[in-house]
Amino acid sequence: MELKLYDTLTKEKRVFTPLDPARVRMYVCGPTVYDFAHIGNARPVIVFDVLYRLLRHLYGEAHVKYVRNITDVDDKINARAAERGVPIRELTEETYKNFKEDVAALGCLPPDVEPRATEHIEEMKILIEKLVASKHAYVAEEHVLFNVPSMKDYGQLSRRPLDEMIAGARVEVAPYKRDPMDFVLWKPSKDGEPGWPSPSGIKSAGRPGWHIECSAMSWKHLGETFDIHGGGVDLVFPHHENEIAQSRCAFHTPVMANYWMHNGFLQVEGEKMSKSLGNFFTIRDLLADWPGEVLRFNMLRSHYRQPIDWTIKGLEESFSTLRSLTDLPEFETGAERIFAPVVLEALGDDLNTPKAIAELHVLYNKGEYAALGSSLRALGFNKRPESKRSVDSKKVESLIATRLDARKAKNWAESDRIREELAAMGVVLKDSKDGTTWEIAR
Ligand code: AMP
Ligand code: ZN
Repeated sequence: MELKLYDTLTKEKRVFTPLDPARVRMYVCGPTVYDFAHIGNARPVIVFDVLYRLLRHLYGEAHVKYVRNITDVDDKINARAAERGVPIRELTEETYKNFKEDVAALGCLPPDVEPRATEHIEEMKILIEKLVASKHAYVAEEHVLFNVPSMKDYGQLSRRPLDEMIAGARVEVAPYKRDPMDFVLWKPSKDGEPGWPSPSGIKSAGRPGWHIECSAMSWKHLGETFDIHGGGVDLVFPHHENEIAQSRCAFHTPVMANYWMHNGFLQVEGEKMSKSLGNFFTIRDLLADWPGEVLRFNMLRSHYRQPIDWTIKGLEESFSTLRSLTDLPEFETGAERIFAPVVLEALGDDLNTPKAIAELHVLYNKGEYAALGSSLRALGFNKRPESKRSVDSKKVESLIATRLDARKAKNWAESDRIREELAAMGVVLKDSKDGTTWEIAR
């Protein structure tokens, strides 16, 4: 079977050829650990878990190395730890533990290595010193900056015009920068901020910039050049562009990774997820109402490069579809995890999970239950979702319909009574000119 992957760098779908089939290497940017991960963060975790499973199937479990880092040094972490009055290490450890539990509930395998940034400061300093020695970076006012004009083909991944890049990078235009695009590799730490002995030429303690972390950790665990680098589409610029600049200039290599893969963004009920809009969901929030398998299935119904609109209606559909697909003795009792050839073919086409799910339906309709059960398990579905939800959606829908009738009859007392009955069940109604929608209050 042939695997084709879309590469953001060359903007084409290409046959995947690993540098070394005995050692297929993938790096995915992981979480910054200061708070519960939200459902948008779950998207790359689930998508690259499917790719990891596919690669393990194709090349053998012992021949795939998946690295997903943990960013445990960051200004947001410092701020949150100060706010909560806890030591930084306590905050990052607790958040990381929660993240691991959440993604395990989503059926994701742990990567082979989960390196922490704070345990790779030495590697970062080595890279920074190499970049300074080769004049791709310079020291200025206790900072080390990467000099963007020193790299002739900077910007190949995002291919944006220079003025857009300057605006998009939102980098501080500090007086000590030689060029407005130059970005921080190392910066000084004030008292009370985490700090390490700085690279040569700087006396005071400092800490790394974000981009250098991934160049250092991927180098340490996967080498100077590796096969696949993944993350959300928001990371293309500046994060991945800058990772490429650092790694290629440090090692004098033509590429950092051979395939750059980016998942599209997740919205909630048609809007950008944000705390102020009240549509912000952590994985933990959703796991209180939905089995993890349903969240996974809902994510995989969209192709990873497309945007995804996360809705209660979609979750309801995913729940009932997955319930019927797994309503088989072959799923409950089987243990094999093998992709059926039709499923494999769909996944081989740039991880076409909606097509793979359509093929699961075909297997179901043909009565090929053993192949169906085995494929579901290979895709990371380990058990039949139970209705753990505190809310019975059928009952909610029927109460909404009764309330609508009451409103049509101008029976406002009855309409309010039903709204209250639903509120007592934890359901919030939203009336609009297009009808009534509901959600579970948190
Ligand atoms: P962060 O912790 O913000 O650095 O994000 C961790 C990962 O989640 C990155 O790969 C992001 O691209 C990805 N991500 C963040 N928000 C979303 C979203 N709304 N939809 C899809 N992916 C996201
Ligand atoms: Zn990264």
